[in-house]
Amino acid sequence: MPVAFIGHGSPVNAIEDNAATRAWHRIARSIPKPEAILAISAHWCTQGCAVTAMERPETIHDFGRSLPAALFDLRYPAPGAPALARRVQELLAPLPVQEDRSWGLDHGTWSVLMKAWPDADIPVAQLGMDLARPLEWHYELGRRLRPLRGEGVLIMGSGNIVHNLPAMSGAADAAPYDWAKRFNDYIKDGIVRNDPAAVWDYQRFGPEAALAVPGPDHFCPLLYVLGARKESDRLRLETDYLVHKALSMTSVLFESAANTG
Ligand code: ZN
Repeated sequence: MPVAFIGHGSPVNAIEDNAATRAWHRIARSIPKPEAILAISAHWCTQGCAVTAMERPETIHDFGRSLPAALFDLRYPAPGAPALARRVQELLAPLPVQEDRSWGLDHGTWSVLMKAWPDADIPVAQLGMDLARPLEWHYELGRRLRPLRGEGVLIMGSGNIVHNLPAMSGAADAAPYDWAKRFNDYIKDGIVRNDPAAVWDYQRFGPEAALAVPGPDHFCPLLYVLGARKESDRLRLETDYLVHKALSMTSVLFESAANTG
């Protein structure tokens, strides 16, 4: 299976038809159908490591009431993946990974999957991120999860490379801030050169890195994806643009060379 980082942007994408949502649909059709999905969402940060293990995860509407009412009616009734949760525990041992039955699928996961696989027939588990740990540690977890790719599991990180909500302004297609564009390019360059240290040590970019990444939550899912990347993978850049000046929609997919011919 490939491994994917999706720039999910606003929850409103779930009820829109735009370049990003069409790309998510197209990506799903361009890869083998996964047997299960392990999602690492920007919106689930945990104390210690945790994985959802319920049979029927709830659709969580984890955003403010100022968003359109139609979003709150959406459900993504994909089955849970308890067997995948156990496999994750096995792969990450001796690190304790708590089996969670209180979370579900948050919008970082379902807003994307709803467009990618609208039938909601693929079992999904979410892995919670312990943000007390450094980014390099999350990369290492991704590396240990890599065998899942050979077991029909799609590892999907869902966040945004540049995510500064207070700085967002203007129309979706307004020219991005200079720092936002340069930071997005800087990280993409690290990805293209397969230099994960340049990504986890993004502070090297300079003081403006703090504008692009005000907190680690939306950036961190990328590290899992880079960890699960194989040297021989072919890189695909998708939806490579910024919206509202300070929100990167860049997505990256790493595909096994064997699958792409
Ligand atoms: Zn988000």
